[in-house]
Amino acid sequence: MKNYEFTIAFDADDTLWDNEIFFRQSEQEFCKLINEFSPDLKDEEIMPVLFDTEVSNLSVYGFGVKSFVLSAIETAGKLLKNDVPYPIVKRITEIGREQLMQPVTLLADVETTLAELKSEDKYRLIIVTKGDLLDQENKIKRSGLAKYFNRTIVMSDKQDNDYIKIIADLKCEPEKLIMVGNSFKSDILPVMKLGGYGIYIPYHTTWAHEVVDTIKHERIAEIEKISEIRQALNKLKIEI
Ligand SMILES: [Mg+2]
Repeated sequence: MKNYEFTIAFDADDTLWDNEIFFRQSEQEFCKLINEFSPDLKDEEIMPVLFDTEVSNLSVYGFGVKSFVLSAIETAGKLLKNDVPYPIVKRITEIGREQLMQPVTLLADVETTLAELKSEDKYRLIIVTKGDLLDQENKIKRSGLAKYFNRTIVMSDKQDNDYIKIIADLKCEPEKLIMVGNSFKSDILPVMKLGGYGIYIPYHTTWAHEVVDTIKHERIAEIEKISEIRQALNKLKIEI
């Protein structure tokens, strides 16, 4: 197997394909459902309870749609004073199921950019994504992008320790790892702190839990779309 000097790791959700917009839609559906049952409850009251419930459940349920469903049922219980009729529970599970069945829509220029990088064969290309294992595997399969990657890695979280494990597993020096992603908090900062590089591609919507202040750093480049990756590699002086 070829020994590549650098590894480019791509985040998947909202870096390669749309994802977060479907959570916004599911949240809206959930608010509509609660509001239909209890018209006094408006989105402004429902959303903070949902958010707090989701965040407090992250360490036990992890990220992803199934976790959203469990937290939404729990939120319904809190908002409706534990008097939740079964049709509400059923509709919440349907909202989750519908989200899991959404088609995978690639972001602009993703496929051509990956095809170019793959054909140049200068970098080891991998996917590093977090979330529910089955859902992430299904999306990778449905995206048709698996053929461009040497490896795909699904993690339950993307904190410093998770990246330390990956770096050990890949037998890759941290200074030879470039992470490309839309979450400054989960994709860019941890890898930069470990000595690697980050190429930040913001997406138009971010879950509040993922929002952090961005910083400037010599090992971080920001681009608008994935097709500008070449410019980012040049800027980071790692173009080979
Ligand atoms: Mg992402």
